[in-house]
Amino acid sequence: MLENGAQRREYELLIGGEWRAAAGGARQAVRSPFDGATVGEVAVATRADADAALAAAERGAAVWRRTPAHERAAILNRAADLADARAADLAATISAENGKPLGEALGEARRSGAILRLSAHEGAQLYGQGLPLDANPGTGQDKVGFTLRQPVGIVVAITPFNYPALLVLHKVAPALAAGNAVVLKPASATPLTALALADLLVEAGVPDGVLSVLTGPGGALGDALVADPRVRKVSFTGSTGVGERIARSAGVKKLSLELGASSPTLILPGADIERAAAAVAAGGYVNAGQVCISVQRVIVHRDVEADFLDALLPRVRAIRAGDPFAEGTTIGPLISEREAERVADGIAQAVADGATLLTGGARDRGFVEPAVVAGVDTRHALAQEELFGPAVAVTTVDDFDAAIAAANGTPYGLAAGVFGGTLTEGVRAIREIDAGSVHLGWTPLWRADLMPYGGLKASGHGKEGVRSAVEEMTEAKTVVMHG
Ligand code: NAP
Repeated sequence: MLENGAQRREYELLIGGEWRAAAGGARQAVRSPFDGATVGEVAVATRADADAALAAAERGAAVWRRTPAHERAAILNRAADLADARAADLAATISAENGKPLGEALGEARRSGAILRLSAHEGAQLYGQGLPLDANPGTGQDKVGFTLRQPVGIVVAITPFNYPALLVLHKVAPALAAGNAVVLKPASATPLTALALADLLVEAGVPDGVLSVLTGPGGALGDALVADPRVRKVSFTGSTGVGERIARSAGVKKLSLELGASSPTLILPGADIERAAAAVAAGGYVNAGQVCISVQRVIVHRDVEADFLDALLPRVRAIRAGDPFAEGTTIGPLISEREAERVADGIAQAVADGATLLTGGARDRGFVEPAVVAGVDTRHALAQEELFGPAVAVTTVDDFDAAIAAANGTPYGLAAGVFGGTLTEGVRAIREIDAGSVHLGWTPLWRADLMPYGGLKASGHGKEGVRSAVEEMTEAKTVVMHG
């Protein structure tokens, strides 16, 4: 037990239903980003372990695809009940290894059961379709055609550090529900939550070999898993750079890439300024800005800029940094001191290049003080590149067309938000903003676990959200019966 009440966790690798030491015997401490304390320890897998996990997955996939959907659903529903019962414990593990405030971690942990239940349901909805073959010239009525949905086989799931429960479950639960075996490689910074979730899935009855978890370096393990021909689908969430590398080495496989972003929020005349300011003060700084759909850019119409900033700044200054386990903390450290340095440097560079720092930006160890930077040119790196930190870059525009051009003016296209504007502008924003989701009346930082979720442009391709993930983790087979 750690001082803050979280359990200190020690795990082996999960391969073929067994918890076993890594082939090379190496182990690695997992440290708190807040104070560097050791919060757990995991095995460091090698390529030999990746090979063993894939061999086990081949056996597991053969068993699981023959397991009726109602039995798979029953196991996932049992796992959901366990996740609900252990939500407080999962939250403490998330906070300990990721550094986000316990309240935020609890919100994340409590979605685990819901994602598992949604997946159990969707995995039992693998409908096919009847084919009107007699509409094909020359074909009579002696044939019957239809499609069947079947699991892809082996899914490799690779996940980032920022939502250690949510993003693991958005891959593992739909993959299992659809009848696939899964090899999971969680982020090295946050492996403990993934292992705790795997533990409860095994306890709920997931058969041997159906789920393996490999902890260790993404470079070596990722390459071995992604390139292996036994794998039919790679589902990756992480940075655009790693996503590009995966796309190059995957070969002929199904791929889902949930990548980086620089998400815009438009503030237009007519906006409810208080509501917009409150939403941006949350959406730009939740999880210390380490959210793919974080509000990185505010594109504000000149007519409402002063009012908006007046409403925003006190809210940002009220964000309280501190120990993730302490009452009243609303922002924790970034995942590492190196990341905090990178973010603080990015803000300082924008200011050196002519932008105005309205608040925040200072670094103290792993913490970056929540920042608002005004007068940011859309072409500047603070707008163009993903910041992944607690700062919002404000760009001022003179009309709606300029706002849309600025929103679309980066390589990314994950999500966007719009406050205010006329009905016509709202409709144009929906149609013209190149993003995987567009929110009218809110910021991009909003997600329901059932909705299709995924980016355009350099933000990736493929959709998550439980129904979409089940769809992408199955394949349609066309069957024709010739009478
Ligand atoms: P990351 O550095 O790209 O790492 C993500 C995962 O990939 C980790 O498990 C990492 O392992 C692994 N990895 C590293 N090199 C690899 C390789 N060559 N082949 C295969 N896997 C490899 O990303 P992160 O810093 O953890 O997460 C932040 C990024 O995720 C941001 O860009 C953010 O926008 C993105 N993200 C996107 C979404 C979305 O839905 N679009 C959601 C959340 C986060 P190690 O940890 O061992 O290096």
